[in-house]
Formats: sequence, C-alpha cells, structure tokens
Amino acid sequence: MRDDLVRRIVIVGGGTAGWMAAAALARLLGRMPGLSIDLVESDAIGTVGVGEATIPHIVLFNQMVGIDEAAFVRETNATYKLGIEFVDWRRIGTRYVHPFGVYGLDMLGVEFHHFWLKARALGDTTPLDAYSIGITAGKRGRFAHPRPDQPNSPLAKLGYAFQFDAGLYAAFLRRLAEGLGVHRTEGRITQVLQEGEDGHVRAVRLESGAEIEGDLFLDCSGFQGLLIEGAMGATFNDWSHWLPCDRAVAVPCALGGDRVPLTRATARAAGWQWRIPLQHRIGNGYVYASDYLSEDEAIATLLAHLDGPALAEPRPLRFRAGHRDRAWIGNVVALGLAGGFLEPLESTSIHLIQSGIARLMALFPTRGFDAVEIDRFNCDTAQEYVDIRDFLILHYKATERDDSAFWRRCRDLDPPEGLREKLAMFGRNGRIFRKQEELFPEASWLAVMNGQGVVPQGYHPVADLLSDAETLERLKHIAQVIDETADAMPLQDDYLRQIGCAQPPLRQAS
Ligand code: FAD
Repeated sequence: MRDDLVRRIVIVGGGTAGWMAAAALARLLGRMPGLSIDLVESDAIGTVGVGEATIPHIVLFNQMVGIDEAAFVRETNATYKLGIEFVDWRRIGTRYVHPFGVYGLDMLGVEFHHFWLKARALGDTTPLDAYSIGITAGKRGRFAHPRPDQPNSPLAKLGYAFQFDAGLYAAFLRRLAEGLGVHRTEGRITQVLQEGEDGHVRAVRLESGAEIEGDLFLDCSGFQGLLIEGAMGATFNDWSHWLPCDRAVAVPCALGGDRVPLTRATARAAGWQWRIPLQHRIGNGYVYASDYLSEDEAIATLLAHLDGPALAEPRPLRFRAGHRDRAWIGNVVALGLAGGFLEPLESTSIHLIQSGIARLMALFPTRGFDAVEIDRFNCDTAQEYVDIRDFLILHYKATERDDSAFWRRCRDLDPPEGLREKLAMFGRNGRIFRKQEELFPEASWLAVMNGQGVVPQGYHPVADLLSDAETLERLKHIAQVIDETADAMPLQDDYLRQIGCAQPPLRQAS
C-alpha cells in the first residue's frame, strides 16, 4: 500500500457545501484505512441559508451517497421540480418554461426542433411547449417519476429535480454524514496555520485555542473563502460587467397561489424575483443590481409580490458574479461559495458543489499533491463556470425589454465569444452547438433561445426529407401523446401524500 495516502480531511464550513462534501467523502472514502473526516462550523457565523432550487443532477448525488429519496423529500419539506418558468423576460407579458428533459422526438438523425421550425414555416402555430412532457405536466401541477423502462413513452426522458428547505437539507446531510463517521466541531476559526516550506495548510486554530490538523483541507467557508483566498491567496475572476446583479433580498411566505412543480423567475425592473414553492412555505427573493435599485426599493417590490403573508423579515445578501482563478491551491480545495458564485437564475450553485466533489474524487490526491492533476481540476472548474455564465447571460442579452436602464444595459451588453457564436449558429439554421462537457443540454439552450425570442432564419435541410404533410401529422401525434400522458400523471400534491408528506390542500393550477 502507498505510504503517502491522505489520512486526515478537514472540512471548513457546515453549509450545504460542507455537509454535501462530508456525506459524499465519508460514503466514498470510508473504507480508506485510518481515514478521519473533521468538519468545523461556527453557529455564530451561520450559513447563507438560501439555495433551495436544484437541477436534475442532484438525483445522481442522492443515489451516490445512498439517500432514500422519499425520506429526503419528507424530511426537507421538498417538492419536485420539472423546470423553471420565466415570466416577463423577453418582454412584459411573455412567459416560457425551461424544462428538464427533451422536446418531442428526434427524427432522421436530426433534432426534433428542426421539424418544429419547419412546421412553423408551414404556418403551424403550435408552441414548442406542447412538445415537452415536463412543461405540459408542470403547468398542470402534475408529477411522476421518469420511466426509462418504457422507451416509447414521453416519461422515458422526463427530467426532474427538487426544491427543498436549505436548513433542513443541511441538517439531513449532517445526520447522514455523522452516521458515516464524520466528526463535527463547533467553533470559530481564528487562524489558519501554514507550513513554512510549501505554504500548505497544517491546521486551523479555533477561538478556544484548539487546533485541528489535516492533510487535505476543503474550504467550504462561504463567500469569504477563509482558506483559499485568506491563506492561499487565490484571486477572484470578476464577471459583474456581464452579470451586474450583486444583491438579493430573500423572504419566505405562507403558501398561496398555485403550487406547480416549477421554480418561477419573474423579471423585474432591476433584476428578477424567484418563487420556490415547498411543502410548508414558499421561498422568495429579489436578485437585483445595486447600480439601479436601493435595498429599500427591492424589499418593497418583493413584499408587494408574495403569494401569502411574509413569514420573516426580508434578509439582504451581497455577492459578486465570478469565481476564484484557482479553486485548488496546495492542499486546499474550495467548494461552494468559497469557490465562486453565479446568480441563482438557473439553480446551478448546488450543482457546482456536486461537480466539484465529483472532480475531487476523480483526482483525489496523495500527500504528494501532483501539480498536473491540480491544474486539470482548476481548468475544468473554470470551464464549468464559463459555460454556466454564458447560459445565464443569454437570458439577459436576448431580451426585447427596454423599459428600464437595467434592461437596456443588459440588451446592449457585449456577449462573451462563446455565447456570441451560439447565438449566431442558432440564428441562422437553428443549430445548437454544445461542447462535450457543457452542463446544459441542447434542449436547455433551445428553451431559452426560443423563449427569449431568438428566431432562426432556417432549419436543418434534412428536415425537408419528410414531406410537409407527414411532418405536420407526426408533430400533431407527438403533441397528442404528450397531452394524454400528462393528463394521466398524478397531481404533485397527491404524489407527495402517497410518500407520506402531510400536504395541506391547495389550489392547483388550471
Ligand atoms: P455557507 O452556507 O455560507 O456556509 C459557510 C460555512 O462556513 C458556515 O457553516 C459557516 O459557519 C462556516 N464558517 C465561515 N467562516 C468560519 C470560521 N471563521 N470559522 C468556522 N466556520 C466558519 N444555489 C442553488 O443551487 N439553488 C438556488 O436556488 C440558490 N439560490 C441562491 C440565492 C442567493 C441569493 C444566494 C446568495 C445563493 C443561492 N444559492 C443557490 C447558492 C447556495 O445558497 C450555496 O451554493 C449553498 O448554500 C452553499 O453555501 P456554502 O456552504 O458554500 O456557504
């Protein structure tokens, strides 16, 4: 056996990032001889406490750490999520859904949407939404799990995620991780002790004077990046010129309105408002650019647009769009907000924690800390941020809104090169060019391009190999099957009741 194994892992921070890392590492590395995992968190500092909407990859994370999904849904007051509904983004009065999963059926080796574009050219006005089971079911308040065992059903490729209570999720993961042997210490870290020779972190010292030593340190300390920036000197790649929102106010409210399995993002004068319906309450927040709006104005707007009475005082949060230039330096790896932040428009932060953990596992070090492997980690991490950044900018850039200085700035911004190319490719013949490892699939780009009003001039020439009549006939059939399948799915509230969630009766969407 190698004699340079990492034996002591120290996780700094007990927010979502810290406890996700603790649970995953304990599950995956638990058999390593002599391994210890320590987690330090400060109750006085607390956690950011937001972060309640996710994307489908979390299903894999739950499976990987051995989470029983029904227990998880019950204990975190979770609801299911089939996509994100964007209201007033293209212009005031418009709405569209970015669904998880695919549209229609690919034919003749060509993506479905080319046939839809052809049908449009022939005068068919059926909206793209009608070809998505996620959208059709989501709008009707319905949910069922995917059925990969029924390849001919639209349910075969349904994608889903969760919306949950962030505090309950951290507590859930903590129980799991502690059950797997993770040791938690409560206390404020006042000093990071480094080795003289290579600058590696040797230990963290707490207010009490206690020291916790480690071979590998995971910095999950939130925005401040206590280790990665404070001790290791990482710099921050600031993208606020592309993503100017830098503040949020968040407030939970009582249940009200509909509870469809969708997160909602409503564009406002200087940003956008989230609405995340859970079993017991709705999470809300206004993400805005402080160049264009004061905190008082943001709070007033948020409180004026709630579906039920506010359940707490609005909580202000500050952030900057961007990421650390290097998420791994020496023996410190940053995960979560310590590594970077992109606004929650597409619910990607928890996923970034998950992918950081997966990357760390793939490149899990010895005490030799190989520079080539660390470079690979940093390079792939940075690329993931770039890919998500470009997708987010699309929502702001491709808008017809000009009703406020904020939206005029967004519409006029100079997009990064990757997005510029994607817009040009789609604008010509509806082609979506996605690099291999990119997080968002073709259907996601299609949903947002189309929803924001980017209209291609043409479509894939192979779509013309189907006659006009057959194209229209096939599309009609697909929409009909989706409509019938959605109607046969249970209401989400019934589904939640079936797995033991105490669901208060609530008005469903029409
Ligand atoms: P934190 O929650 O800040 O945890 C930091 C931890 O470090 C705490 O335990 C703290 O006590 C500890 N700590 C810090 N300093 C010390 C010290 N000196 N000594 C000891 N302990 C210390 N993500 C999504 O995926 N979906 C969303 O819908 C979403 N919405 C968001 C909305 C907003 C407005 C914001 C700001 C973020 C949102 N996020 C969302 C991001 C998500 O909240 C975070 O990615 C997630 O909560 C992880 O946070 P964290 O664990 O990195 O940091």
